Amino acid sequence: MWLLSCLITPNILEQYRALPIFKQDLTEGFEFIENPQDPISSPLGWHNDGTTATNDTSGNNALVYVDQDTTDTTVQSAPGLVFNNTQDPDVSPSVKMNLDAARINLFYILNTMHDIAYKYGFTEAAFNFQQTNIDGVGLGGDRVLASVQNSLGIDNAIMPISRHRQSCDFGEFLGKFPMRDGALENDIVSHETTHGITNGMTGGGTGRCLQIVESQGLGEGWSDAMADWTEQVAAPISDFTLGCYVDGGVPIRSKPYSTNSTVNPYTYSTLLELGEVHDIGEVWANMLHNVHAALVAAHGFSKTARTDPSGSEGNVVFLHLFIEALAFQPCQPDCDSVSPGLGNT
Ligand SMILES: [Zn+2]
Repeated sequence: MWLLSCLITPNILEQYRALPIFKQDLTEGFEFIENPQDPISSPLGWHNDGTTATNDTSGNNALVYVDQDTTDTTVQSAPGLVFNNTQDPDVSPSVKMNLDAARINLFYILNTMHDIAYKYGFTEAAFNFQQTNIDGVGLGGDRVLASVQNSLGIDNAIMPISRHRQSCDFGEFLGKFPMRDGALENDIVSHETTHGITNGMTGGGTGRCLQIVESQGLGEGWSDAMADWTEQVAAPISDFTLGCYVDGGVPIRSKPYSTNSTVNPYTYSTLLELGEVHDIGEVWANMLHNVHAALVAAHGFSKTARTDPSGSEGNVVFLHLFIEALAFQPCQPDCDSVSPGLGNT
């Protein structure tokens, strides 16, 4: 308790020009966001790693930089933790103004995801990713290291997981419309971040418990479902399409997630024909989309669910079930571990 009270900095003011978490990508417009940091999830604010206060895109939850250079962060644009940098979609993602905007948005989303997940159970005791664990439990020294314009990640975004290095790399997408930065599509970022959550919570923080094909497929599905959850703004739950911006309007998944079986006909039996991990993920994410939609239809929608996990509305209940259940499942979850003896049909 003494440690906590000494570390908390009161009245931290943080401001970011970024894409609010409920928006999908930069085509929906940047906003100037004031104090998005959650005082319970991040009592130090987002710019203090427990030892040092910073004025750049580094802090206790994330360090966001360019390519391989962890010192290449974005520094505040004005004193007082103001990150007010504009983005120009007509020039290359690699020019400084766009690098700054991408780092700031990535930093904002990673920290927002940290704060949401913390409130629903991905805490320090549950092996979340923080440089300093303020309550002294779990493992520290593992904030997310996130790279924009990563030269090793062209046309991709990845989050390789290990216990002591949570890295998250966002490359430039060179599809139909080149110059699209994966760090400026929020659902890509929240998808990758959720790989950290599901790998972190399954099997007690080893980071090695979603590695067989079916478990990897579940992981891809959870990551899509979390991106889906973060971008819903009202009841009823809307159809959700992942990854439209980075590939020039062509979604990176085969179908929208939908309660309409004409829009998305995937069911469990679809797995008789599909075996690649992202394909398995599409089936699982569509199931989760339908569960989420049914809960919201029955119990309503909380507009404050991202910061208040105490309600009984459907979207609140869904995220509790989603995150808390991760800790109960065995290492390498699959059909057999959920329903022993039924086999992988
Ligand atoms: Zn993935």
